[in-house]
Amino acid sequence: MGVYNRAPLEVERGQGVRLWSTDGTEYLDCVSGISTNALGHAHPKLVQAVKDQAEKLWHVSNIFKIPGQDALADSLCEKSFADVVFFTNSGTEAIECALKTARKFHVANGQPERIDIYGFDGSFHGRTYGAINAAANPSYTEGFGPKMEGFHQLKWGDKAALTAAFENPNTAAIILEPVQGEGGCRATPDADLRWMREMADQYGVLIIFDEVQCGMGRTGKLWAHEWASMTPDIMAIAKALGGGFPIGACLATAEAAKGMTVGVHGSTFGGNPLAMAVGQAAFDEVSSDAILDNVNEVAGYLTQQLHGLKERFPDVIVEVRGKGLLLGVKLVPNNREFMGWARDEAKLLVAGGGDNLVRVLPPLNITLDEAREAIEKFEKACEFARAKVAG
Ligand SMILES: *Cc1c(COP(=O)(O)O)cnc(C)c1O
Repeated sequence: MGVYNRAPLEVERGQGVRLWSTDGTEYLDCVSGISTNALGHAHPKLVQAVKDQAEKLWHVSNIFKIPGQDALADSLCEKSFADVVFFTNSGTEAIECALKTARKFHVANGQPERIDIYGFDGSFHGRTYGAINAAANPSYTEGFGPKMEGFHQLKWGDKAALTAAFENPNTAAIILEPVQGEGGCRATPDADLRWMREMADQYGVLIIFDEVQCGMGRTGKLWAHEWASMTPDIMAIAKALGGGFPIGACLATAEAAKGMTVGVHGSTFGGNPLAMAVGQAAFDEVSSDAILDNVNEVAGYLTQQLHGLKERFPDVIVEVRGKGLLLGVKLVPNNREFMGWARDEAKLLVAGGGDNLVRVLPPLNITLDEAREAIEKFEKACEFARAKVAG
């Protein structure tokens, strides 16, 4: 189906932060499969994990016990607020599980009327019905039938509206990305996240975090909400969890998941042995101090350098924002056009984003030398853009 506006680039192979097209051109990849290839391309540990598991067992169905699934769930719980995990194949399925878990919680509590779920503008939660209704971005919901009942959208940063949402006795949950990805790299201030936690506790509302993009080390802590020293009740993760292999997960406290009893939810592929083997290898690596330290070091460098470019190219760059290696650069020229210039003129791949942004999303193990190269290429793209903007 013609649902993608694809770049005119046929990708053949990758190694670390580099990609090669079928015509042999080398690119520096600061897209990372949209924050998915957190360890770069063809990471030896992930390659080995796939090979080893491929020779043993791929799939059995969740009607059997899957030791690798218990092991990865244990690892995730040990390094998060969660007590239980449900594995999926994608981010949007992890969101579905999160939304269903929240509504079931209130049913289990004897309050089935609590179905209202509040999301925020600029959010992205995936493409399934629950996910598009939760994010309520008109360009993703229009033409797909009636809006689902009980979903509401709040303006990001509108505290009065959010207060009213907490006070609504039918509210089940609020859902947000602590740092927005697709919508424009906006980070909710730490103090606001802590305030949300207090309000949620006071009014019996659940907090669902969508850390599909900002989690798994992307912001310099394993989970983005760690910066605010608070925790959600439920969290969806995916993207970097499999390092490029399709894996998602819905994490929850035992209390929040108390309605998720035998038979109420499931998945054929979710958590299969092959996925779990790769997921474990990726998680062990990404959750290491070495990777998280590297994210903070490189992020500091990139942020400083991008601000420098903004000073030098005010006719090209409006603003630099984001957190860690989830960096957004708001542009004067059209972001799609700029992505093409960066690709063709500087052999640098960057991602698009809402609010006329390009996102710089390198792998989390990018070296400082490679980051320097990225900046040189970004500068080259800015020079080209300057000439274009000046006409
Ligand atoms: C990518 C993304 C999703 C959807 O994940 P899929 O694997 O594409 O279903 C959900 N939430 C956020 C924040 C994302 O960035």
